[in-house]
Amino acid sequence: MRGYLGLAAFAAAFALAGPAMAAALPFDPDVATREWLATMDQAAVARSDSYFEGGYWIQFVGPLIGFIFAFAFLQLGFAKNIRAWLEKNVKVYFFVVVLFALVYTLIGAVLSFGWDYWVGFVREHDYNLSTQNFSQWFVQYLQGFGLSLLIGSFAIGMFYLIIAVAKNTWWIWCTFASIAFAAVIGMLAPVYISPIFNHYNPMPESALRDSVLQIAQANGVPTNDVLVYDRSQQTNSVSANVSGFGETTRISLADTLLQRESPGGVRAVLGHEIGHYVLQHTVSLLVMNAMMIAIAFALAHFGFLAIAKGEKWGIRSIADPAGMPLLFSVIGFLFLLATPISNNITRFHENQADMFGLNAAREPDGFAESALLLSEYRKMEPTALEEWFFYDHPSGYARIHMAMVWKAHHMALGDIPMGPGGPPPGWAPDFVTGHPDPRAVGYTAPGGEGATAPAAPATTTAAPAAEAPATTAAPSPAAPSN
Ligand SMILES: [Zn+2]
Repeated sequence: MRGYLGLAAFAAAFALAGPAMAAALPFDPDVATREWLATMDQAAVARSDSYFEGGYWIQFVGPLIGFIFAFAFLQLGFAKNIRAWLEKNVKVYFFVVVLFALVYTLIGAVLSFGWDYWVGFVREHDYNLSTQNFSQWFVQYLQGFGLSLLIGSFAIGMFYLIIAVAKNTWWIWCTFASIAFAAVIGMLAPVYISPIFNHYNPMPESALRDSVLQIAQANGVPTNDVLVYDRSQQTNSVSANVSGFGETTRISLADTLLQRESPGGVRAVLGHEIGHYVLQHTVSLLVMNAMMIAIAFALAHFGFLAIAKGEKWGIRSIADPAGMPLLFSVIGFLFLLATPISNNITRFHENQADMFGLNAAREPDGFAESALLLSEYRKMEPTALEEWFFYDHPSGYARIHMAMVWKAHHMALGDIPMGPGGPPPGWAPDFVTGHPDPRAVGYTAPGGEGATAPAAPATTTAAPAAEAPATTAAPSPAAPSN
């Protein structure tokens, strides 16, 4: 009898404990996350997965093309012959290097144009992301390439001057130089480079703008301006970013974001960007990347010497411009190996900005809405290994789940109103209900010339990446986005 009583008491306690624990939260964040994800139809999930998974091999094939080109350039004697001709006719070391870099990059770009066209234009259209016709795309491709060529060749000239002077310790000094270079480019880019590709204007007056500025100023962001840029000139997808460095740091929202998301969604994204700003992520990204660059340069030094031993391909020393295809291939290969490391460095910051943004904007549903719209170019539910290796931002699932946990706990705290756990009743993303064409919706820049402006290359290609074929060196200026 006593045994039965004990058992009954135990069972009763267990039965009570179950509901008591669940009652701590007004809804189950796992279930709510599923409800958000269920607003995507099968076709949208398939499209999202296939676009993002295609990117896995694209990021390796691009550099591979560069390696093959570099090898051919060395093996066929082009490198040493061009170097010899330049030394005879130009004489000044700096200009020999710069001209060598120009010739090498130009030939590489011509040979790899088909690949760039497929990745940057054809594929983007296949997934209905691009809003550009060929001539718009090509003009911006040329602008971006020309700019990279100019800035990159000059940077390579400086890079080699350091190598020639510092010899075996070049990797230390070149790390400092790369970081300084990235900081300067980062400072100049929003003022001189970004406006080449897009129009930036203050966000038009509205209740939404006022609320956005309230959130910014509440968090100590000394600004009266949030900028809107005409991303719809290039793509339908939503985005926002923090750009600049020091004095020129600024937050820019895409016009597509304003057109496609609810006010809560816009505030959620802005909260995230404010997080990057307040937490000084441009600086900390630079410092963390510096460590990675220093290690890569040091390893590249020894790798280069091992491969170029005995004047292979006519390379006389590491300061010899004829060794440029080899040196940049080795550096590019090391950065390729470090892909998961750099992704983890970036994702670490993005995760911080997500949590900051939730707390600053207090818009968990808007945050979930944004995470869902980003599925257009980022797969929602990767495996843990996939996310660790390939993701520079948390996955859509991780972000929505974070927002739903936040929402459930704050409802329990009573500091936000009670409501449904999942999406607002009847809500579905616009790519399920019918995709709007932002150009038709028509955000018109206050300047008025938005419609005729040439459009920009995707932000990934806009960063001056020095030479095109052999991916290399200087990290693009830290510009955290969405
Ligand atoms: Zn971000």
